[in-house]
This record gives sequence, structure tokens and C-alpha cells, in this order.
Amino acid sequence: MLNSDNWFTEVYPDEGSALSLELTEKLHQEQTPWQKLEVYQTTKFGRLMLLDGCIMLTGRDNFIYHEMMTHPVLCTHPAPQKVLIIGGGDCGCLREVLKHPEVRHAHQVDLDQRVTWASEKFFPELCESNNDRRASLSFTDGVAFIEQAEEGSYDIIIVDSVDPVGQAARLYSKEFYQACYAGLSEDGILIAQSESPLFHKDLIHSMQSRMADVGFKDTTTLFFPQCTYPSGWWSASMAFKAGKPLGFRTVDIETEYYNNDIHQAAQAMPQFMRKVSRSESTSKGE
Ligand code: SAM
Repeated sequence: MLNSDNWFTEVYPDEGSALSLELTEKLHQEQTPWQKLEVYQTTKFGRLMLLDGCIMLTGRDNFIYHEMMTHPVLCTHPAPQKVLIIGGGDCGCLREVLKHPEVRHAHQVDLDQRVTWASEKFFPELCESNNDRRASLSFTDGVAFIEQAEEGSYDIIIVDSVDPVGQAARLYSKEFYQACYAGLSEDGILIAQSESPLFHKDLIHSMQSRMADVGFKDTTTLFFPQCTYPSGWWSASMAFKAGKPLGFRTVDIETEYYNNDIHQAAQAMPQFMRKVSRSESTSKGE
């Protein structure tokens, strides 16, 4: 929603809250075959990308999200060589994945080529690894892609999708997690962005319950700040095909947020997240 006085406001109607960013200029707008895509210049948050009116990323704070969607899972896996990114069209996760020398191939599959076009034009810093010889980019539906993948193709699958609406809703389904489970190697790990712990606790629990239902032996939640996402507090859910490894590898890579202490602290479970809400317990037949 654009206010008359140069402010963009994303309203969270179910939560009675909103977030506003001050704008200086509209840089781009189009209706892609899949979604409305907008890019703005802000006064203090760098450039801003919206998809269907929702904040996808800003130049100022995307580093936290992209580092937390990649480094914890890559450092937890003993030898991450083959990585699949579903969604992630802004290429920020791809850039972080390719900082790891162990990675031999990173394949990004986003539905909408225009998102990557816009990122290359307006967020070139996120796309600096797009021409890495280990990278490949495809533009198709991520659900169909993983359903057709050979069994055991990937060590890591990263699901960097929009909220569970429209074309992305299926990226939160049991069928999709089943396909990811099959597409992962024996000690493979899935990580999916799982929304706000404060606003979407039940979604996090239901995602991880579906992951367990399809066979993942362990799941865990990463908590991290993301000030331009709803509530300013975000999460990612990791699912381990062969069980959660003990410990994690320390790697020597350039980061702004992630480090060994953050890796451990991000998995500390807040007390309210330990409790299963009544709606969940009844849905689980407990
Ligand atoms: N970090 C953002 C967030 O947490 O909302 C997500 C950023 S990324 C730009 C989200 C991407 O998901 C978009 O580029 C969109 O095109 C992609 N996407 C949505 N549905 C998809 C699907 N079924 N298959 C592949 N990509 C999809």
C-alpha cells in the first residue's frame, strides 16, 4: 500500500500491525505471468523488492535471512556437494551457498524469471555468483521439478519461497515434503523458511509435523531477526533424513550475521514454542 506521503506500508490485517518504509523513487513495476513485481528506492533501507505487495527483501537487511537460510544447514551437513534451491529468485541464497568450497553444484529453481531479472538489475550484489561455473538457474515450478528429480539427487534442499499462498502454497504440502525426502541423499537435509514464530507458530509446528510424517527423523527450528518481515522475527525449519548430526562444521567464510555462536543460539527454543496449541493437539488426535 503506497501512502500519499512517500511511505510504503505492508499491513498484516490478521495481526493488527503493519510495517512502513520511507520511499524516494519507484524504480520498476510489472505484472509478471505469476505475480506483481515492484522495486523502490528507500531512504534508509536501500532498495526494496515487493511481490504481490509483500516485502521480499531490502538492500539493508536481507543478509540476515540469506545467511540463516544457508550457512547453518550447510555447516550441519558433513559434506554438502549438491544443493537445490527452490524459489530464491533474488539469488541471495545462491550467493551464500556458493561461498562454501565443498559445494560442487547449486541449482536454483524459481517459478518466475522476472524476479531474477529484477534482482540482476536492481540488486546486483545478490547476483554476483550467478555465473559461477557451479551454479545453474532454472525457471519452472519447484514442486513439479522435485517430483521429477531422481531419488537421492541432493545433499541439501533449500526452500526459499514466498508465504504459503497462491503458487507457493504447494511448497508447504505433505506431498512436496515427500518429494523432497525422496530427492535427498541418505544424510540429506531440507530447510524451509517457516514464517514468524510470533504470528505463525501453528504453521511452524504443522510444517515440521508434515516433515516428520513423510519420514524425516528429526526437525529443528532456527530463529533469527528479520526486521522487514511480519513481526520482525523469523524462522526456518530444518528436517534431517538420517537424524540430526551431532555438532556442526566451522567454516572460514565471509559473513555479516552468521557465526558459530549464532549457529547454536538460533536453535534455542523459546518457551512458548515448546507448547503445542490446543488446535494442534486436537489435529494430532492427542
Ligand atoms: N525471502 C522471501 C520470503 O521469505 O518471503 C522469499 C524470496 S524469493 C524472491 C520467493 C520466490 O518464491 C519468488 O521469486 C517466487 O517466484 C518463488 N516461488 C513461488 N512459488 C514457487 C513455486 N511453486 N516454485 C518455485 N518458485 C516459487
